[in-house]
Amino acid sequence: MEGSVRVRFAPSPTGFLHVGGLRTALYNYLFAKHHKDGKFILRIEDTDQSRYVEGAEQDIIDSLNWCGMEVDESPHHGGDYGPYRQSERKELYHEHVQKLIESGHAYYAFDTPEELDQMRERLQKSGNPSPKYDAITRQSMKNSLTLPADEVEKKLENGDEYVVRLKVPRRESIRFEDMIRGHVSFESKGLDDQVLLKSDGMPTYHLANVVDDHEMKITHVIRGEEWLSSAPKHILLYNAFGWEAPQMAHLPLIMSPSGGKLSKRKAEQEGIPVNTKEYIKQDYEPEALVNFLAYLGWSPGDDSEVHSLDELCELFTLDRVSKGGAVFNHKKLLWYNEQYLREKPVENIIGRVKKVADEQGVDTKSDEYLKEAINLVIERVSKIDEILTMGSFFFEDPEEYDEKALKKWKDNSGELVSDYKAAVEQLSDDEFEAKTLKSKLEDVIEKHDVGFGKLMMPLRIAVTGQGFGPDLFTSMELLGKEVVVQRLETALDKLA
Ligand code: GLU
Repeated sequence: MEGSVRVRFAPSPTGFLHVGGLRTALYNYLFAKHHKDGKFILRIEDTDQSRYVEGAEQDIIDSLNWCGMEVDESPHHGGDYGPYRQSERKELYHEHVQKLIESGHAYYAFDTPEELDQMRERLQKSGNPSPKYDAITRQSMKNSLTLPADEVEKKLENGDEYVVRLKVPRRESIRFEDMIRGHVSFESKGLDDQVLLKSDGMPTYHLANVVDDHEMKITHVIRGEEWLSSAPKHILLYNAFGWEAPQMAHLPLIMSPSGGKLSKRKAEQEGIPVNTKEYIKQDYEPEALVNFLAYLGWSPGDDSEVHSLDELCELFTLDRVSKGGAVFNHKKLLWYNEQYLREKPVENIIGRVKKVADEQGVDTKSDEYLKEAINLVIERVSKIDEILTMGSFFFEDPEEYDEKALKKWKDNSGELVSDYKAAVEQLSDDEFEAKTLKSKLEDVIEKHDVGFGKLMMPLRIAVTGQGFGPDLFTSMELLGKEVVVQRLETALDKLA
């Protein structure tokens, strides 16, 4: 490829970073890093001041950091093409708009909102269902194409309100090759004369986006499908400026499991966290979310599934991104989470478990004890917080017994548990280990001539309160004799 790849993630700080936005960032990052000296740029598109949300920019940065996506240029990292916040680039947009006006590709429009409404009404009445400010209508409106030059001059001097519009050609096919969608074609007759500069002097998204992509030497624009309809306007702008447009790639939509686009409302209904912030707060493994999002619309073309960020950079190409929508399968995400959680050495996660425990006021005893408890449950949980729920019995006596499990507490359970208790009570603290605890159970079932489960289940309920969980004998060894005997007594009191 000629020159080095430069891509940008260009979020508007109008809210917290949506998981779909994070996928767009990720695909840009993977694409950049796949090309060895590729640059990943963060540009903040904050020209719509009315929708600005305090803290949104920081949230974007925190989210990228959490995922391990290093940014090469941004408002915070600097770079040769700054400033990287659009609100700090106003001058530049004004200069460029001026050039378009001079070259006849844009014009001043002085129409008031009332006049625009009247125009739309008039056209609707005459049978046009979607009236536009276009090549035809502009001829009867108040703009620098219809008004005499001196009047335009006067209006500008007087400080009359105006917008600058792009002079969209009347009949033209606008074509480009999308790297994912292939050949794309739009007709200019369906387009409005796009406002480029608003009456408050701020550029619109379209103008700022094109000027910046050009000025920042962006080689590839990779963004969500929802921006595909903006692409023809951008192509017209590139042409008007006489610039070469970057390559474009529009990513497939993220779909809800119940069908349709994964909107905020749908996600909430289906229990899918929608903002990256929530994944951080809910203690997901960042590697899992990254791996999952990479596969949400892309695959390497074999059946491998688990890849680190570095491996994904190696593997990622745009030609393997799908055109069709990608369904957000939350179970799959949990599966990924499980894979990454299990791989982590217990030393790396103990701090996080302790933090959650502190928040919940759970006493996790000594680090040694907690580590062993983690090792016992880790194979059975998908998320770090489940270590404390599934393993709660390591830290607290069961307050109540799981209802479903209780169905397994039968008439003879009391007698069996009581016999078992008598047997293990006699063990010294040193002898209280998994192997011995298991052989004691075998003695009791042999004596009563019953199956393994007849004692195992009631025992598990008594010790853990639950019907399933980690190896019971090792768990009892960790809990220690005093705790186990006392829990057996409590259960016998309550249940037998
Ligand atoms: N500011 C737009 C957004 O919020 C950028 C779209 C684009 O990448 O062109 O996603």
